[in-house]
Amino acid sequence: MRMNNCRVIAFANHKGGVGKTTTALNLSAAFVKLGKKVLLIDLDPGANATYGLGILAHKLKRTVFDLLKGTASLQDIAIDIILEDGNLDFLPASLALSEAEIELINISGREFLLANALITASHYDFILIDCPPSLGLLTINALVAAQEVFVPLQTEYLAMQGVGKLLDTIEVVKERLNPDLELLGVLGTRFNRQKILNREVAAKIKEYFGDKAFDLNIRENISLAESPSHGLTIFEYSPSSHGAEDYLALAKDILEREKHEQQEKIRKSRSL
Ligand code: ADP
Ligand code: MG
Repeated sequence: MRMNNCRVIAFANHKGGVGKTTTALNLSAAFVKLGKKVLLIDLDPGANATYGLGILAHKLKRTVFDLLKGTASLQDIAIDIILEDGNLDFLPASLALSEAEIELINISGREFLLANALITASHYDFILIDCPPSLGLLTINALVAAQEVFVPLQTEYLAMQGVGKLLDTIEVVKERLNPDLELLGVLGTRFNRQKILNREVAAKIKEYFGDKAFDLNIRENISLAESPSHGLTIFEYSPSSHGAEDYLALAKDILEREKHEQQEKIRKSRSL
């Protein structure tokens, strides 16, 4: 759904372990670093983003599930995460969210619960939604609330397998529920230039998705794998790592594209 200048981005791929959470979390931190106002939403019952920010999900009284059910407001649930260069607002998840798929299924307008709950959040520059590894009701809620889908793909064997199903789902949501939905981009993750297979898969991603594939791939980086167990973003855990470098470059690339598109729009409107 379109909200002022607020960009709502869903990180989706029903395959697990492809870098959705790592990307949503560290890209959020990168945007904060660049002075943007950001809300990160953990919509995965696995609560990896929640634990990755050092929050004990199993001890939480309220999570994003309460927001979906309408039993708490966004302000009640949001946690203020203090980062080095600013604050990140965060809506946590916990395992209780796994009941959402069943508990919410009979509610009318069940696909719009998140979108409706975010109507009051349009003052953010970015809302990033970390989806679970499935195409169920939670992911559908994210795709309805978002204007853009970001698809991380691990540059490994079978990376593209099942992507067709994801693209079909995006199309169906676009047709039936959210005409504003677009593919923001496809990102190769855990890339090791030394590995022939990684290079081949990265090339295949670029060939298939054209300019929807980001030029940059996120390199395989041990600090990215370690930082969640310390409850820190990559910029706090290892600011000089390849991981920090790559996610900052990605954030800058997204902002650069936005600026370019805005300029194009202005140029077009004047030449009419
Ligand atoms: P998803 O959310 O799609 O399931 P994750 O972001 O949790 O995927 O990533 C899966 C695993 O791979 C995690 O253990 C994460 O720390 C690790 N990981 C993700 N990206 C990288 C990377 N670029 N380099 C090294 N490890 C990574
Ligand atoms: Mg995840």
